[in-house]
Amino acid sequence: MENDSLADQIVKVANWVTAARGVVIFTGAGVSTESGIPDFRSPGGLWEKYDPDDFLYQKIISSEESRRKYWKMHSELYYTITQSDPNPAHFACVELDKMGKLDCLITQNIDNLHQKAGLPEEKILELHGNSMKVLCLSCGKQYRRDEIQEWLENGIEAPSCEECNGILKPATIAFGQAMPQRETEEAVEKSRNCELFIAMGSSLVVHPAALMPLYAKEGGARLVIINLTSTPYDDQADLIIRGKAGEVIFSIVERVKKEVGKDLSGTTD
Ligand code: NAD
Repeated sequence: MENDSLADQIVKVANWVTAARGVVIFTGAGVSTESGIPDFRSPGGLWEKYDPDDFLYQKIISSEESRRKYWKMHSELYYTITQSDPNPAHFACVELDKMGKLDCLITQNIDNLHQKAGLPEEKILELHGNSMKVLCLSCGKQYRRDEIQEWLENGIEAPSCEECNGILKPATIAFGQAMPQRETEEAVEKSRNCELFIAMGSSLVVHPAALMPLYAKEGGARLVIINLTSTPYDDQADLIIRGKAGEVIFSIVERVKKEVGKDLSGTTD
């Protein structure tokens, strides 16, 4: 496996995708770095600027000071995200879906770029929420993120709900906050029952999301990891591709298109 060239690895994964009934793709911040959104852990990432300990859920709900810092970080992220466009990694997932090959996409990302690329909402399981929405933690009222951004720009540093004065928080999952139940249950079920699981652009260190590749392996799936750096689950993978997510998955999908096209035209070579 280690001696395979990148081209060989791409062909191998493309063959697995073609043969599989459906593929589960699992994405992390690394699929959006090619869109200009920094991940958290690479050099220059957000955790070089902010201390993740400040963003523990318990701190956010108990301290206005933490909420101010949290909103400051999210304000910065908002500008980056709204100025970013999907890249070939996002579009490749859409292409896979159009070919009927995508069972579902499980994402840890909060940047809405899979939706912006055109992937149908029902195919996406967001484990860590979506930063384009804001929720009241008391009454559940949902706000548009751009509305709250206006409040922030008008000097409100830690916004509260206009209905009940509850705490407003981006509809994302902070450290120590439970992942959404429906999405998590579906993601576990899809992971356990797939034939092929492709994890890309994730350090696979944020739990419990990072357990999805393990559930896939437990269920008998092949596991492919596409990531620039090593992950704690590399020893579980059937194939590891060290490359940029956009370039690698795009090449895989192009190859699958040719294979699927061959099937459709009835040729066998
Ligand atoms: P992470 O920052 O822990 O890891 C990203 C991984 O992607 C790294 O291992 C890095 O080597 C790799 N990587 C970077 N660019 C790549 C590329 N072009 N191709 C292939 N690999 C690349 O991210 P994570 O595992 O998703 O977990 C961190 C948490 O960060 C998640 O909960 C997520 O919600 C949040 N986050 C999301 C965004 C986003 O929505 N775009 C951005 C930053 C952080």
